[in-house]
Amino acid sequence: MTWCIVNGRQSDAFDHPREECGIVGIYREQSHSASLAAVGLFALQHRGQESAGVATVDAGKIQVHTGMGLVSEAFNDGDIDRLTGQMAIGHTRYSTTGTSRYSNAQPLLVSGLNGQLAVGHNGNIINSLQLRELLETRWGCHFETSTDSEAIAHLLVNAPGATWTDRIFHSMRLMQGAFSLALLTPEAVIAARDPLGIRPLCLGRLPDGWVAASETCALDHMQAEFVRELEPGEVVVMDRDGVHSQIYEGASGRSRALCVFEWIYFARPDSVMDDRLMHQVREDMGAQLAREHPADADLVIGIPDSSTSAAVGYSRESGIPFANGLVRNRYVGRTFIEPEQQRRDRGVRQKFNPMPAVLRGKRLVVVDDSIVRGTTTPHVVELLRRAGAAEIHLRVCAPPIKHPCYLGVDMATRQELIAANKTIPEIREVTGADTLGYLSVGGLMGLVRGPQGGFCDACFTGNYPVPVQLELTKQALEPVTP
Ligand code: SF4
Repeated sequence: MTWCIVNGRQSDAFDHPREECGIVGIYREQSHSASLAAVGLFALQHRGQESAGVATVDAGKIQVHTGMGLVSEAFNDGDIDRLTGQMAIGHTRYSTTGTSRYSNAQPLLVSGLNGQLAVGHNGNIINSLQLRELLETRWGCHFETSTDSEAIAHLLVNAPGATWTDRIFHSMRLMQGAFSLALLTPEAVIAARDPLGIRPLCLGRLPDGWVAASETCALDHMQAEFVRELEPGEVVVMDRDGVHSQIYEGASGRSRALCVFEWIYFARPDSVMDDRLMHQVREDMGAQLAREHPADADLVIGIPDSSTSAAVGYSRESGIPFANGLVRNRYVGRTFIEPEQQRRDRGVRQKFNPMPAVLRGKRLVVVDDSIVRGTTTPHVVELLRRAGAAEIHLRVCAPPIKHPCYLGVDMATRQELIAANKTIPEIREVTGADTLGYLSVGGLMGLVRGPQGGFCDACFTGNYPVPVQLELTKQALEPVTP
């Protein structure tokens, strides 16, 4: 992974898969919703830091404010005050399709045969190019962004159907890939999840209304009571008549394919999915790593913050004490353009500070959540050695990533994925660690599977839940005959 500069900011993700986006949708009966949407977006900031936006409805008209950067940079108090109205959706973006620029920020506002619609999208539509072509030629749609989300927006706002749910179901037949959506019409807030449930989405209850959000941590911050996760293919409409839900018939009989990286890395540790706290799931992953790859060591450390829970689990299972050996600088600012290698070194050095008093002379188990390209791990290993570590036993929670993601996670091309091109001994050599152990696919999937259904593990196995080479027929956008 090349060192990533986003709006002059280093990517927070280093050599990790990068998150997609966070979405919220709020319907309240009495109060304005924009400031609550901003609270939800702050909680989902880890899912995207490139741009943020909120749309509300007042006097039957949708208004949108978007800005680049973190939520705190995209809005000031005046912006929020101007966004009046009891219905709101919000979005925080990391670009998976389309570059990071202002016009690609969401929510996107479009108009069409069905009136006005604002769209916040988390995921990736793999047939967006075909959709876009058809929307341009068949519907005469004019595209202003380079995002797949705009194809979704135009499709929905022009889709046939008597109700928004009908139109969304019609569009679900045409969209291939991952989409959790927060939609805003002049009359309703709508949450929708793709038929495989690849991206998360949950529903919560407010004292005077309803809220949908990518993760339960957002519900907690908004002081909403968790109700449930949306089912794959479910559309939930929140309006003045209450909450109505329907499930797309094409979703029935298909098993869920939630992205397993949500559990390994993306979701905040205080979020709950399938009734399980992500922090505890990651502790269990660390414990499984300890069973699969024991080490003779004095201390267990995690690469903060994303690997801390797993490191605690490794320590618990192995009996090797856990220690904080690396401090993460949370406020790394702008990095100016530098030669690539030097930039990466300095990036690691800017981001982490090792504590020699803790590490000196110690044999370390170092737990990381994933290795994608393997470009930054050697610098972290080197940093720990310079701080006096006697041995470094690297343990990784994600199995070797051998296949790219087409479903909304920015990872790398196959050529760039280190595990697609090197053996584990070769990767160990590249990292400079003394030993290297990855969690097995079987070990990981045995831990996460539950009664709620399955997971996508395609980046480890190559078994994609949807065909990744797709053709869309010209008839695909023909109106559905009732
Ligand atoms: S391929 Fe990997 S990153 Fe992409 S959705 Fe599947 S599990 Fe998640």
